[in-house]
Amino acid sequence: MPELPEVETVKRTLNELITGKTIAHVEVRLPRIIQKPDDIQQFETLLQGQTIETIERRGKFLRFVLTDYVMVSHLRMEGRYGLYAGDDPLEPHTHVLFRFTDESELRYKDVRQFGTMHLFPKGDELTQPPLVKLGLEPLDEAFTLEAFRGVIGHRATKIKPLLLNQAYIVGIGNIYVDESLFLAGIHPEREASSLSKKELALLHEAIIRTLQESVEVGGSSIKSYVNGQGEIGLFQHQLNIYGRQSQPCKTCGQEIVKTVVGGRGTHICLTCQPLKPKRSRKKS
Ligand SMILES: [Zn+2]
Repeated sequence: MPELPEVETVKRTLNELITGKTIAHVEVRLPRIIQKPDDIQQFETLLQGQTIETIERRGKFLRFVLTDYVMVSHLRMEGRYGLYAGDDPLEPHTHVLFRFTDESELRYKDVRQFGTMHLFPKGDELTQPPLVKLGLEPLDEAFTLEAFRGVIGHRATKIKPLLLNQAYIVGIGNIYVDESLFLAGIHPEREASSLSKKELALLHEAIIRTLQESVEVGGSSIKSYVNGQGEIGLFQHQLNIYGRQSQPCKTCGQEIVKTVVGGRGTHICLTCQPLKPKRSRKKS
């Protein structure tokens, strides 16, 4: 499942590929992808003649900013965009086609069919679902330690599910939450309110660093993520703990364990991330 860095990479790649193109024709082959408007034909008609001004990201959502509208797109599990020549044969699982006036075609493929698209008059997208309830953007300047502590610090809830909750902080999924907690040396089942000021500061820094580094690596190698068919692949940062169960921890050599926290597969080094903090619980 793409997380913030992958969506950021897709955003940058799409900006290179399709900014300035004008939509001539849209074909929706799987209506369920389109969440708004209800009328699929209206979705197709409204997009005709719209020029792509830019593509932005909010959390894990892509915002296609057009002349008069904004299309909000979420890739969910398996959604992929690709730029094709208009006469390229259609591959399986292609659900939405955006034909441009220059005859090239942006195609949306989605094997799992969980992806979504919403179309809004420009500006309306910020005051309505799915974007309206989103939390702090972790790579924004507004994501200060103070803001982080404000939304997380007082909650008597396990830290991992809290970090995954998009209403508090956006864009961190199962991979980067494990990576960030490992980097900060915090067990995923610690209660947020039990974390010391220092631990919260370490975690805040770890989240930014993990995402930032991933974005940088992805961003610097954008070209290699566009394959022969023009399909934009998803970059994956070199991971320290996620997916490394039964392998030695890169820091201490202890075997990494995989368990379940809040219903999600979770990777932990119990030496680097002890469940019981060394100091007793104390409000500072
Ligand atoms: Zn370790």
